[in-house]
Amino acid sequence: MTQLLSSARRLVVKIGSALLADERKGLVRTRWLGALARDVAELKSRGTQVVLVSSGAIAVGRGLLGIERARLRLEEKQAAAASGQIRLAHAYQAALARHGVNVAQVLLTLSDTEERRRYLNARNTIETLLRLGAVPVINENDTVATNEIRYGDNDRLAARVAAMITADTLALFSTVDGLYAADPRKHPEAKFIPEVRALTPEILAMAGDAPPGYSSGGMVTKLEAARVALGAGCRMVIADGRKPHALRDLDKAPRKTWFVPEGTPRASRKHWIAASLKPAGTLTVDDGALRALREGKSLLPAGVTKVDGRFDRGDAVIVRDGAGREVARGLVAYADADARRLAGHKSREIQEVLGYRGRDEMIHRDDLVVLDGNDR
Ligand code: GLU
Repeated sequence: MTQLLSSARRLVVKIGSALLADERKGLVRTRWLGALARDVAELKSRGTQVVLVSSGAIAVGRGLLGIERARLRLEEKQAAAASGQIRLAHAYQAALARHGVNVAQVLLTLSDTEERRRYLNARNTIETLLRLGAVPVINENDTVATNEIRYGDNDRLAARVAAMITADTLALFSTVDGLYAADPRKHPEAKFIPEVRALTPEILAMAGDAPPGYSSGGMVTKLEAARVALGAGCRMVIADGRKPHALRDLDKAPRKTWFVPEGTPRASRKHWIAASLKPAGTLTVDDGALRALREGKSLLPAGVTKVDGRFDRGDAVIVRDGAGREVARGLVAYADADARRLAGHKSREIQEVLGYRGRDEMIHRDDLVVLDGNDR
């Protein structure tokens, strides 16, 4: 089946540095960005949620600060990013404001995507922004990232973000138009691969080496991004973004490589919840809650009669009925102490009981796998 970007419902678009930054002058290419903003606004008006993961802070900042050295030292990268990011954010804000679209800057570090608590925080923030109709513009927080705790490339960061928010599509735009059987810079005759359905050793061997300079991507990180995305049920496309309106025109572009997963993001997430996590506790629920779960609804605090075990927000727990039978598994929205205090309470009492306004659901339906239930 032909893959169409226009069918994406939740889309993460990664923009490579070379597309956006004129590094010699320390400027953002505003015409190119203007075209992108128009494409994003168009997608949004058709109901697609769009998240941008944008590189370019270091490239713009080095020009601004006049750093000449070819290979930047870490502290120079951090300084360049600090200076370039503000200009980048401003450029996105201005470009999307022309279409009445709000942007919101989200700077992430590796640990924000790998540590459970921070991961949940980042996920909630991005989800909330999307709900409010804004376009999150994400980059690595290069100013505080050191070599050991740094992604260094936005390909993998974008894939982690896509997995985190269960995006269905990830588009990587750079100066690379797709995957070739061998590095096309060295082997111009190399065969082009339009579609990949499994990351076999043969495919992985096609990556070649990372290119020089600080657009740190190359095919190696793009294939790693594909591994992350496909594992999360998110399809991914690599395409040349140099021409204005590359996003709008992607479906017509003669060259691009699609990486197609087996399952859907939702199915992958559910599978992950059901199979691969060690539950840290148990919630016992009443019959009303059980019925709601079977209808595909979230588990609310009101239906919880008992809380056992020690767990943190975001941990996997087992849900049992009054007779002790396992009826579901899910990722709980509260740590065990708060869950105990909330059990039996209406969602509107959460603020009063806990002293802060937490989530309405004890386990959100997206984080819940119901056994034999109507689990859509
Ligand atoms: N985060 C870096 C920047 O904004 C770019 C990383 C990459 O090239 O992928 O400059």
